[in-house]
Amino acid sequence: MAENSRIAGFRNMSVNDRRSAVAEATGLDDGAFAQIDATAFGPEQAANLSENVFGVFSLPLGTATNFTINGTDVLVPMATEEASVIAAASNAARMARPQGGFSTSSTQPIMQAQIQLINVADPHAARSRILEHQDEVIDLANAQDPKLVEVGGGVKGLDVRLVEAKSATYVVVHLHVDVRDAMGANAVNTMAEAVSGSLAAIAQGDALLRILTNKADLRLSRARAVFDKEMLGGSEVVDNILHAYELAAADPYRAATHNKGIMNGISAVVLATGNDTRAVEAGAHSHAQADGRYTSLSTFEKDAEGNLVGNLEMPMPVGLVGGATKVHPAARTALRIAEVSTAKDLAEIIVATGLAQNLAALRVLATEGVQRGHMSLHAKNLAVSAGATAEEATAIVERLIAEKSFRFDRVQALLAELRSGARTPDAQGTGAQSSGGQK
Ligand code: NAD
Repeated sequence: MAENSRIAGFRNMSVNDRRSAVAEATGLDDGAFAQIDATAFGPEQAANLSENVFGVFSLPLGTATNFTINGTDVLVPMATEEASVIAAASNAARMARPQGGFSTSSTQPIMQAQIQLINVADPHAARSRILEHQDEVIDLANAQDPKLVEVGGGVKGLDVRLVEAKSATYVVVHLHVDVRDAMGANAVNTMAEAVSGSLAAIAQGDALLRILTNKADLRLSRARAVFDKEMLGGSEVVDNILHAYELAAADPYRAATHNKGIMNGISAVVLATGNDTRAVEAGAHSHAQADGRYTSLSTFEKDAEGNLVGNLEMPMPVGLVGGATKVHPAARTALRIAEVSTAKDLAEIIVATGLAQNLAALRVLATEGVQRGHMSLHAKNLAVSAGATAEEATAIVERLIAEKSFRFDRVQALLAELRSGARTPDAQGTGAQSSGGQK
């Protein structure tokens, strides 16, 4: 784990200095950083992952600082195009440090495969027949993946559900598979396909769908943190954050945006580590609706001292083997930065990041609103897209902040002004600031 995830002045460093600081904190060598560079993952390598490939789409890769998880410091790799997300996560993690940072835990890594059986005359009796034969079904499934069984995984149980649908009652068999350090989709799909013939014979019907469910509700990770009242801005800010949370808990319109803020952090770490963002997002959506009503994925309350306590529990189907995690060079470096050795460790880092992101956004919304900080960062994008050099962009951003105007035509006018030497923008701002994330 990182020696110290608090790296003073990290955001103001050059890219090379940031690499040196990350290397110092994690022990990474130059070779690891070379794997992040565009040349390490060109179209040739990309063509091994997807189809019809003619190029590579790059995204910013950074690291959130200040995270302590279960008493250990960690640098959190994040890939995101959205301004202020990484800064916001770092800022919230800083506010959790005085109370010990994040505490995390997980269920066993159980993924479920579904086998849909159709044309079954007696669904209730079929369910009983399948349960009578469950040991042989489980043995057949485990025989498909000796490697998984060898590392302690494999099928741990079987469930049979009767799903009343419009035209029939489907017998739906669930294999509960401990996938250890894999995300597990391929592993459980292979098992589902292998046992479907036997299940159809036992049920005296036909097997149709044989695939995992992304409602990974048996594979949950949790993060908890106490955010310091004074660092948040005092007890009024804590109360307002609680009002903001309560609206999300009560109102699906707000909950969708609240959860999007959580996913700003979650998806960035999932992506950086080569994991499947869609699988994690599908799991999150289904979990937010677990009680039949769409609501906040997180909860917030006050502790006895008036500090803010946040909790986040959600499915986290991520792996260290399989998928792009092993073959994408930048993902491998990201996993080295996070210094994880199990999928459980990675899942918990991801959920802690989601909680930090959530708190940062709530705090900004409950105080100054997102636009000030967000637009300051957005101004830099505007300046660059207008063709400004880095030096020109800095001057333009400062001017836009001072003017509180973030219009593209104004950016173009300021750039023209700068280049004509007509006047120097009288900088007043302090450059890009963190908005604390959005949402
Ligand atoms: P995988 O099949 O490539 O790797 C898993 C395999 O690695 C296991 O079956 C096991 O044989 C082996 N293994 C070795 N060491 C292991 C360890 N310590 N722990 C666990 N397994 C170990 O990959 P996967 O994780 O089964 O599947 C992930 C991929 O499936 C992702 O790319 C995902 O995008 C894709 N996928 C997702 C969906 C979906 O979410 N609906 C559907 C299909 C495919």
